[in-house]
Amino acid sequence: MGKILVGVDIGGTTIKLGFINLKGTIIEKWEIPTNTANNGSAIVDDIWKSIHDKVENNGNGIYGIGVGAPGFIDVKSGYVSEAVNIGWKGMDLKQQLEKRSNLPVFVQNDANIAALGEYWIGAGQGSLNMIAVTLGTGVGGGIIVNGSILNGENGMAGEIGHIKVEPEGVHCNCGGNGCLETICSATGIKRQGMDSILTNPNSNLAQYYRDKGVITAKDVIDFAKSGDETSVEIIDYTCDVLGKALANIGTVINPSKIIFGGGVSKAGEFLLGKIDKAFRKYAIPKLHQICELKIAHLGNDAGILGGAFLVKQSLEEEKFN
Ligand SMILES: [Zn+2]
Repeated sequence: MGKILVGVDIGGTTIKLGFINLKGTIIEKWEIPTNTANNGSAIVDDIWKSIHDKVENNGNGIYGIGVGAPGFIDVKSGYVSEAVNIGWKGMDLKQQLEKRSNLPVFVQNDANIAALGEYWIGAGQGSLNMIAVTLGTGVGGGIIVNGSILNGENGMAGEIGHIKVEPEGVHCNCGGNGCLETICSATGIKRQGMDSILTNPNSNLAQYYRDKGVITAKDVIDFAKSGDETSVEIIDYTCDVLGKALANIGTVINPSKIIFGGGVSKAGEFLLGKIDKAFRKYAIPKLHQICELKIAHLGNDAGILGGAFLVKQSLEEEKFN
């Protein structure tokens, strides 16, 4: 077996790791728990120990390690200024992991490496300009322009969840109001469902809430699928807002693909059709004619594949220099 790439995807509860070859085939993948005790101070040691144990077993050479982490990341220095859900407040991730491994380390935020994975061998394959949208608890984004992640001056580019869509809207974690994420995330869909129970107490959704005492985003989507008018209104509005935002982002980068991942995207073609309709309503024709909206292909492997791709890209850059 030849030399390999290592991809690491740090999440709030588990860290996913993988050995991947230059063609994008996963040779081995595994998970370890994320130890968030003591502000996550053991995480870097845990990652290297876990890789090192496997390397000794099969004697593979490693090109480098590509890591995706949550939070605000300075890509050049690999410094994570804040990652609330794993406890980091100022973590020199790149330097710390390079010191332990003696290997080149590349760091990106988690939404961006998921985008890179899909770009390399997932739903974004063959597309030089694309947008990846993660619809989960929040709304994440990764934007690829001319085959590279768009980072911006300090790593904030592509944070599409914080595009303002309702000036008088509800409060968002970022400190603003009416962000895309307050509407189009699982949290946002659930909130709209809860709001509707007061304004439309006769809907099937409201009846269901009175029976169960709780509703989820999936319930709202399922009731919309079954034709409950209130739920249809919520989902139509949500998809319209998202499609319009994507048409506006698309105007800036002219993508050939927009890829949807994350829990909410499991609703699949039902949501995709509605988002697509809105996108085509708001985007100028030459823009939407070239652009395809698709559900992500790689599921939970997108992060480790994207991490590996970061390393592969650095090898290609070396060749040119
Ligand atoms: Zn926000």
